[in-house]
Order: sequence, then C-alpha cells, then structure tokens
Amino acid sequence: KKILIVGGVAGGATTAARLRRLDEKAEIVLFERGEYISFANCGLPYYIGGIIEERDALLVQTPEDMSRKFNIDIRVFNEVTKINREDKSVTVKNLKTEELYQESYDYIVLSPGANPIFPPIPGINEADNLFTLRSIPDTDRIKDYVDNRKPKAAIVIGGGFIGIEMAENLHYRGIEVTLVEMANQIMAPIDYEMAAILHNHLRDKGVQLILEDGVKAFEDSGKKVLLQSGKAVSIDLIILAIGVKPENQLAKEAGLALGEKGGILTNPYLETSDPAIYAIGDAIEINDYINGNPAMIPLAGPANKQGRIAANNIIGKRETYSGTLGTAVAKIFDMTVASTGNNERTLKQLGVNYQAIHLHPGSHAGYYPGAFPISMKLLFESNSGKILGAQAVGHKGVEKRIDVIATAIKGNLTAVDLKELELSYAPPFSSAKDPVNMLGFVAA
Ligand code: FAD
Repeated sequence: KKILIVGGVAGGATTAARLRRLDEKAEIVLFERGEYISFANCGLPYYIGGIIEERDALLVQTPEDMSRKFNIDIRVFNEVTKINREDKSVTVKNLKTEELYQESYDYIVLSPGANPIFPPIPGINEADNLFTLRSIPDTDRIKDYVDNRKPKAAIVIGGGFIGIEMAENLHYRGIEVTLVEMANQIMAPIDYEMAAILHNHLRDKGVQLILEDGVKAFEDSGKKVLLQSGKAVSIDLIILAIGVKPENQLAKEAGLALGEKGGILTNPYLETSDPAIYAIGDAIEINDYINGNPAMIPLAGPANKQGRIAANNIIGKRETYSGTLGTAVAKIFDMTVASTGNNERTLKQLGVNYQAIHLHPGSHAGYYPGAFPISMKLLFESNSGKILGAQAVGHKGVEKRIDVIATAIKGNLTAVDLKELELSYAPPFSSAKDPVNMLGFVAA
C-alpha cells in the first residue's frame, strides 16, 4: 500500500507513526509545506512568554528522527497543491526548488489543519505589528518582535484559548495588555456566570478587558486600533486570535464534500466522499458527541485520536470515530478553566429539557493548607439524568474533576451515578466526598 499524508503536525504525524506500527511494508510519504513536523502548537504561547525556555523543546520530533525511527519518507517544504483523483495521484510543489512533481497513491490522509481567520478590516494589511499564531515561524516572528522591539502595549483581539494564553504570556513579558472580545464573555465553551469569574481574575492581574466590542479599523500602520464603540487604543503590538477556519482548498478543488462551515465531510470511518481519501483533525467537520449536530472543534486530542483511527482503517480494521465532546482546559494566570460537553447556551438553543447544578466545593480538605473553592457547573437531562456537560473554574484540581466527568459521559453514567464514583482521596488532594461526588449528591 502507498499512503500519502498531507500535513505533518498533530494529526498527520500520529497517522504516519500508527501506520508504520501496523504495517512494516507500507510505503508512507508525509508532506509538510512548512519546515517543521510534529511541533508542539499548544506550547507556542508559553515559549513567547518565556515559560518554555528552549525553542528546541517545541520540536517534538525532527523530520530526520521520525524518518529514521519509523522509516517514513518525510518531505518538509513540500506542498500538495492538487489531488488528481482520476489517476490517483497528487501534484506536489517543492517550495525550495519551485519544482512540481506527481506522486501516486492508494490512500491519502488529509490533515491540513485550520488557519487563523484574517478578516478584511480596514488597515489590516498595513499593520506591520500584527501577528497571528499557528506555526513555529509565527512564534519566531512574535518572539523576535517582543525581544527586539520591546513593545510596551499590546492588544489581543479575541478571547478564546489562544487569545487568552497570549494575553497572559505577553503580560509576563512586561507588556500592558488589552484584550478585546466581541461577545459579552471570554471562553465561548463555558457559560457567562463561569466566565465572569475569569473576567475578574484577568482584571485583577492587570489585563484591560474590553467586552462586547470589536475592531473597526487599524490606523497609523497598526499603532492605533479603532473599536466599534468609538474607543481608540494606542499599542505597539497586535495579536489577532479570533478563531480558525478549516484548510479545505485541496479537498474543495478535488470535489470532496464539504460541510456548511467549510469543514471536510467524513463518514464515521473518517473517509471523505472519496473512500481512498481520509481526512482528520481541525480541517474536518465532526459530530458533537452530546447532541449529534455537525460541529468544528479544533483540538489536539481529537486530531490525534482521529489519526489513529484513519491509520487503523487503512490497514483494514473498521473503527469509527464517535464524535467530539470538546473537553478542554486552559490556564488563566493563577486559575484554571476546564469544560466538557455542551454548555447551557447550547442546550437552551436546542430546546433540551435540562437541569443545572452549581456548586463551590473546596479543591481539597479545608483543614489542609492551600484549599481553594472550585466553581462547578453540571448540566444533565431532566428525565434521564444523562450528563450533557460540565464546567469548572478554580485554582487547583479543576481539570481533574472535568476529566472524571468527561469519562463518566463516555461511560454513559448519569448525574446521579457521580455520587457512587470512588475517587482517590487524601487531604492534600481532595475530600472524602470529592467535588464530583457532591454533584451526584445534589443531582440525586
Ligand atoms: P495542524 O497540527 O495544524 O497540522 C496541519 C499541518 O498541515 C500544518 O503544519 C500545515 O502547514 C500542513 N499543511 C496544510 N496544507 C498542506 C498542504 N497542502 N501540503 C503540505 N502541508 C500542508 N489544542 C488543544 O487541545 N489544547 C491546547 O492547549 C491547544 N493550544 C493551541 C495553541 C496554539 C497556539 C495553536 C495554534 C493551537 C492549539 N491547539 C490546542 C489546537 C491544536 O494544535 C490543533 O487542534 C491540532 O494541531 C490540529 O491538528 P491537525 O493535524 O488537524 O493540524
């Protein structure tokens, strides 16, 4: 079998490694248009902030190492520009030599990811201090700007995961940060009352948070940002982090089916509308695990899992992807926010008959020093008790509770079943009745 993989980072690199483990003889070619494969996207903001000190730490696998270890033909600086389905080949451009060549395939796995959204705001192309963050070169550019130009004030546009992580890391670099978000809250996966805790925390830490406002124009080569409210912010650095859109060009031009939001459509085996072409990761539309609706949830865990499934299926297993829960966590200065499943806004929109529980249990036994309350929210179906989602914000032990609930959801436990979970306990870590148990008691 000859398998071509497009994209060499989260999904692509996993697929390549899994394919090799399953099949010693398969011919595997991995194309990556950038210089690096398998780098730690999720670590990029922390390298800019100086928390991750070594740039090399971001490079999880070098092309040479991976190629040697797994016997994979890895071609960096090679962009797949066209899929020729009629003769089962792709056209590839060697970005160093500009040379075009063809490569035949039995199967393709598309893992091209998603690109930062770059809206046509007046003045955006003249703003030479404006950056988006996706790749190592993006990171190098931002870090270089911070190290050498020593900006005093920055604006981060967008209050999602990347925006918030960048706000925090720029703050660590001694930069005055303004964070602008169009919605009335940051962190869209959680509900307003939970996000409000984070709003306070950001403001306490000195981040200027502007909600319900968007950018109208960039002026003075990006030194001034005009907001829709009429406010103007003078800054030296702009980070644009308003979301991502799937890289669907190759798939689109090849006539593969796309979803409404532009994600590549697959069946549960992760085959696209052409069964010789699989697609995974940020570029695909998945089903929301809770409500079954189509969704785009760009996260590293799902991309990795999908890569494994696609590889298994190419080798002849029949494994399905069951959908994405969207379990996620982020550090916001001294706090942690984590969530899984649907939030209350979504449930309301869908007209689900649900109940919500809010609790504020301690992260561990109150008599042991250092306990902090965790604000927790559990959402479950009124009649069946089916768990629909959970959110938590606090200083410690936040993600552990959400991970337990995410596991409970996958195991089809109900809200009441949470009271029966036997979870590890000693005073520095939890209470004899863990916060997750407490949610179950209240639900009962
Ligand atoms: P990617 O990892 O983006 O890989 C796609 C690759 O394909 C790219 O390198 C691209 O150059 C290449 N490519 C595209 N088209 C072609 C082509 N035609 N030819 C050759 N190569 C091509 N997720 C989490 O779960 N937790 C986090 O904390 C987290 N933090 C993040 C922080 C940042 C700054 C960023 C940018 C992302 C973060 N993510 C996080 C998201 C996570 O990185 C993505 O969900 C994941 O990388 C998606 O994997 P992928 O394989 O679909 O795409």
